Amino acid sequence: MSLLRQAQKFIANQTARKNFNAFISLAEKSALLRTIEDAEAKHGGGPINGKLIAVKDNICTSDLPTTAASSILKSFTSPYDATVIKQLRDAGSIVVGKTNLDEFGMGSHSTHSFFGPVQQSGDNGRALTAGGSSGGSAVAVATEQSWAALGTDTGGSVRLPAAYTGIVGYKPSYGLISRWGVIAYANSLDTVGILARDSQSARKLFNAINSYDPKDPTSLPPSTRSQIAELLSKNNRKTPLRIGVPLEYNIEELQPIVRQAWIRIVNLLTQLGHTVHPVSLPTTKHALSAYYVLAPAEASSNLAKYDGIRFGSRSAGADGSPETNSVLFAKTRGQNFGGEVKRRILLGAYTLSAEAIDNYFIQAQKVRRLVQRDFNSVFSFPNPLLDPKPGPAPHDTIPDVIESVKVDVLVCPTAPTLPPTLEFLDRQAPVDAYMNDVFTVPASLAGLPAISVPVSSSLDRASKVLNGEAVGIQVIAQYGDDELVLEVAKMVEELSQ
Ligand code: GLN
Repeated sequence: MSLLRQAQKFIANQTARKNFNAFISLAEKSALLRTIEDAEAKHGGGPINGKLIAVKDNICTSDLPTTAASSILKSFTSPYDATVIKQLRDAGSIVVGKTNLDEFGMGSHSTHSFFGPVQQSGDNGRALTAGGSSGGSAVAVATEQSWAALGTDTGGSVRLPAAYTGIVGYKPSYGLISRWGVIAYANSLDTVGILARDSQSARKLFNAINSYDPKDPTSLPPSTRSQIAELLSKNNRKTPLRIGVPLEYNIEELQPIVRQAWIRIVNLLTQLGHTVHPVSLPTTKHALSAYYVLAPAEASSNLAKYDGIRFGSRSAGADGSPETNSVLFAKTRGQNFGGEVKRRILLGAYTLSAEAIDNYFIQAQKVRRLVQRDFNSVFSFPNPLLDPKPGPAPHDTIPDVIESVKVDVLVCPTAPTLPPTLEFLDRQAPVDAYMNDVFTVPASLAGLPAISVPVSSSLDRASKVLNGEAVGIQVIAQYGDDELVLEVAKMVEELSQ
């Protein structure tokens, strides 16, 4: 399709679908057409040249506002582009708009937005959750308002919306993609991720942004990147693949349709000759609680700067003395943060307090280590970030996994259920909404690459997408083994067609 045709389609889709509140701001149409003409003229036709990309509104762009879906940033336009945006533009891609999200990335349904909820329509016109927090990016891709989109994934925010909208959502290994210019939620977990309609497109976008960025202190340096590549090439993976099925993911709350899709895809993989092995990740059941201690703790610290003086919109009132300033801070933060963000700030400030830090924050950090150890004990490829000759085992050891077979990759559901209706969510307690992240959070705590691929639970796949019937199946691999994750995603995609 010519670039001009793509742009016309984008504009037509925008009008026809009323965009499901997927966008907070849009590139101006004439500017968009001009950029497309430039892309056609200037670039040599690289893999993402001229592609229309939607960008989550917590990633800074110099030409469009960046709000993080918060009232506190409603009038903010960044003076610079985030590194990932620069990389996209250098490769000839076109940013079509900034997408809606849960405020600062906190949520699982894109309903906690100052700009109103994102939604998708299911059967009988019921409004379904698009997942969160990158729900706007997922809907933009699923409704063909863009070729692909950037999101951020701290505990599942790219994978969950992808699963709920029937598209691919990929969270690369932590540290591969630059976070410079990405508004921080929980730095030790935040990862820029990709939403696309198939894994090949996700791979193209990943290749364009997968590089070291000296501006980001958590960016993986070139020396470590080449060590990992060398280890992977020496590892000489055998085919058929050994596929791990984590037993702890087969929870009681798993909807039958999700379990069927999981079983179906695992069976199809064995028909290709791969072998399947049950594995145990015993700390899985504590991972969610640990995540909801650690992420709010980091968030409470990151969000302290939005006080109306240094950063963010300011509520009316005088500043100057410590007394008047604290009234101003409280008013500004009270009026401009939404309910979920306030909940996380309070929770985080509490778990970091002298009274609670040992019982909550420190314990959660220990659980995070155990989650990482669980994964290291099941993968055949050793964690390249660890010392190859470990010292004596720490005191808090966990029992060895039941199964001695090491696996190459794990295959499991992305979410326990299909997307709930928005009406159902309204009746849900905030903490119940955290349950949706139960399968995505473990890979986040360990920084592992993970991708969600849409699969139908039945053989009849025809157009089950975007009416809430595609099930997201997740593929997880060892740190740095992103290539394998993308390869297996492609296999799963082909099998489910
Ligand atoms: N739902 C999770 C949370 O609210 C994950 C969000 C994310 O990945 N940004 O923290």
